[in-house]
Amino acid sequence: MVFKVLTAEFKHETNTFNKRKTDLSAFKAQTFVIGSDNLETFAGTNTGVAGCLESAQKFAWNMDHAVTADTEPSGLVTSKAFDTITNLILEAARANAPDGVLLALHGAMVVENFEDGEGELLQRLRDIIGPDIPIAITLDLHANVTAKMCELADIIVSYKTYPHIDIRETACHAGDILQRTMAGEISPTTLLVRCPMLREANDGRTDIGPMTDRLKNARAYEENNDVFAVSINAGFEGSDIKEVGPTVLVTYQGDSTNHQLFAEAIIEDIWEHRGDVINRYYTVEEAAKIAVDFLDDKGPLLIAEFADNPGGGAYGDATSLLAALLKSGVTNACFGSIADPSAAMQCHQRSTGESITLDLGGKTDPNFGGGPITVTGKIELLSDGRCIGDGPMMNGQTINFGKTCVLRVQGIDILIVSEAIQIIDQQQFRGFGIDPTSKSIIVLKSMQHFRAAFKPIANKIIVCESGALCTTDVKKLPYQNVPRPIYPLDLNMVRHKQ
Ligand SMILES: [Zn+2]
Repeated sequence: MVFKVLTAEFKHETNTFNKRKTDLSAFKAQTFVIGSDNLETFAGTNTGVAGCLESAQKFAWNMDHAVTADTEPSGLVTSKAFDTITNLILEAARANAPDGVLLALHGAMVVENFEDGEGELLQRLRDIIGPDIPIAITLDLHANVTAKMCELADIIVSYKTYPHIDIRETACHAGDILQRTMAGEISPTTLLVRCPMLREANDGRTDIGPMTDRLKNARAYEENNDVFAVSINAGFEGSDIKEVGPTVLVTYQGDSTNHQLFAEAIIEDIWEHRGDVINRYYTVEEAAKIAVDFLDDKGPLLIAEFADNPGGGAYGDATSLLAALLKSGVTNACFGSIADPSAAMQCHQRSTGESITLDLGGKTDPNFGGGPITVTGKIELLSDGRCIGDGPMMNGQTINFGKTCVLRVQGIDILIVSEAIQIIDQQQFRGFGIDPTSKSIIVLKSMQHFRAAFKPIANKIIVCESGALCTTDVKKLPYQNVPRPIYPLDLNMVRHKQ
């Protein structure tokens, strides 16, 4: 039997502390494709759409793809953007009466007038297709998962890696379970257990640390009969919502008792390790000093600016680390990036090779990571800001910074861009004439994803806390909606089991 499957990708990780709302133009600036136009360009990439395509091919589905919409984390999604994208999915559901649905979502989307974007999307979809058509969704490892999402989706599968290098495989996994459900072989449902924390102690990193064993146990547990997926979500603390934080999900059929206990044991472990932070966070002054002292011909020192990671919804324009590096006289360095569209525009009004003085960065909110700094430098390169990734996460995908300039200031090649985007691929330097392996110091704004493409070329990696919006000092953030007590806002709290 040929099944009709409705597919779509609609992903946003909403940092509610980011004052810039996410409207349709934010999706259009990154990924917003209606229907199946150019769908084949996603084939084989590390994306949910690629996984949908692969499942469709594997099971000979009649696939109806409604929309692909994805953009970098930022502030509240506008109602208009949410309705526009959601309606494309609903129209497809109305038009084609699918046998099943496969959606690639994130699981931390907060909309202007409601906290649970994914739950609302699923509710509107259920209102059309009814309670019996199976819905499978994929989530980011940093999903905030709500009870409503588990009620309305039968099948939920999250990424198992951070850096996220298994996005396509996750959609394939969900596609396999959906196929068996449509065929009437199984009848899955998903349970959820929650931990009263803003996030897992190490944001769920899976290269080292306690997540590696948890995931190993989860994979082994999936071998049980009637267990189809175990998902361990680190949570996303940038969303100030009621249902925030780490969760464990089990997609299963039959009696839930043992699965509930298994999920609770993982949550217990996440709670027990709540204070075990692996990263050492250096101040900007400490990081600059380490950079000055770094004399090693084996390869560059990499400084990851954790707190200004646009991939966590920070503005990407914090200047405190750049200012400290300039003050210390660091040379032969590259800095990616400062998101400052007005500075990029100023550079574009000049020519390559010219010198320019401008106020750079820090314009969105100087309270988080420093205000504008005045720099004078030489314009090395002007670009429309597009490059194509070739690393494990972005291979074959286009990255669009908007108007971009490489400005050399005192021996630091600063990538000035218009769109705040996390640096996770070497092409984000190489595409703009900067060979990171030729530099003594590589500075980039990222927490953990950078490791996938940059660890192989870095001699040493340090992590810097610059005080920007994704600060590790969560007490600086004006939380209002998260349930209290919650760790680490309430350090001495007692956890009551659910
Ligand atoms: Zn993530």
